[in-house]
Amino acid sequence: MAQKSPRPLVAGNWKMNGTTAALKEARLLAGMLKDVRLKCEVMLCPPATLISAVRTVVKGARIRLGGQDCHWNANGAHTGDISAEMLKDAGCSAVIVGHSERRTDHGETDEIVRRKAEAAHAAGLIAIVCIGETLEQRKSGQTLAVISRQLKGSVPAGSTAANTVIAYEPVWAIGTGLTPTTAEVGEVHQSIRRETDPLMRILYGGSVKPANAAELMAVANVNGALVGGASLKAADFIGIIKAYA
Ligand code: PEP
Repeated sequence: MAQKSPRPLVAGNWKMNGTTAALKEARLLAGMLKDVRLKCEVMLCPPATLISAVRTVVKGARIRLGGQDCHWNANGAHTGDISAEMLKDAGCSAVIVGHSERRTDHGETDEIVRRKAEAAHAAGLIAIVCIGETLEQRKSGQTLAVISRQLKGSVPAGSTAANTVIAYEPVWAIGTGLTPTTAEVGEVHQSIRRETDPLMRILYGGSVKPANAAELMAVANVNGALVGGASLKAADFIGIIKAYA
């Protein structure tokens, strides 16, 4: 019997970008999606301040919502933090954890990322767990070892294809316009696949744009994209989504 393949996911990470003026992009995207025969899931991860407003403007469109981070606790004295439960309550179905910017800016270790993913699962959210090597690690031939270590350390035991998505994001490709070759992407995704459920989605992230989305999607074991900069403009994001449609 043929193996089912995972339904691709294209998720846009707005990072710390966007005030209420950005809602027009979400509204535009919702309109553009009406004419697209979607074969993938589409998700927007706006800043926490905009989640509710984006939810309102995309109502009825096939757009899921995700948070960009969560605390590992469900509630408590953690000023400025947001819990997975709060994201769920705001209308999210997923949360990104372990993005390299969080790992770098906030010193998040694999253990912290794992605890955040566990909190996401406990709240009924999909954890989008980010992993990826630095340029130094790639140049010194450590990529697959780093990826394997991050997978073991960041992904909770017992994670399933239903509650977890892996995002492979080479740190040096994020926001730089640089991308690995399709052979390099294929090598890493294959190594991740060997360590995960066959139906768990493995996204590629790092300077995905309309011009390279189709070739990246064609790589074996690439089940979608995590998109930063190009998700801020509906016209760019729809170009990526169409590569997966
Ligand atoms: C990201 O931050 O997850 C990302 C992939 O960014 P960009 O697409 O801008 O490289």
